[in-house]
Amino acid sequence: MRIGLCLFALLAPLAWSQEAHGHKAHVHGVAALDIAIEGKTVTAIFESPADSIMGFEHLAKAPAEIKKRDEALAKLKARFGEMLLMPASAQCVWKPGKAEVHLHGSHADVEAEFTAECKGPLNRGEIRFAFMKVFPDVHELKIQLIGPGQQTGAVIKHDEGTVKLGR
Ligand SMILES: [Zn+2]
Repeated sequence: MRIGLCLFALLAPLAWSQEAHGHKAHVHGVAALDIAIEGKTVTAIFESPADSIMGFEHLAKAPAEIKKRDEALAKLKARFGEMLLMPASAQCVWKPGKAEVHLHGSHADVEAEFTAECKGPLNRGEIRFAFMKVFPDVHELKIQLIGPGQQTGAVIKHDEGTVKLGR
């Protein structure tokens, strides 16, 4: 049986205690993606319930769990540019990022940060998403984008839909 049963009854007190520690309660399968554009640089901060990335949320102790965790984080780092798809015309190249697991009580989040340097314009075209190809459990993305003269929020479900760049 999977541990992913975030029982609703357990979420309310958890939300309260996480708020006290400055953390949001999470819903398995729902990740947050903050994208900031400044000049030719794109910075993406990705935060997902760890369950949706590596399949569990407790502290990895057994060698098999440590391996599973490390492989999942390595996959996230290696393939982030395949999941957050900047317009081809922007000619963005993602740099190696960082990803780590943060435990919060009985839950854990994977937090990752990536930057890309782009040669082309970042005020036109559309961003597309392909997270489920790599992490099938990440079925919803809550997106915030801040760029020059632009502040956009979007909810992307099953990687469907795009976020437009520019006004
Ligand atoms: Zn959880």
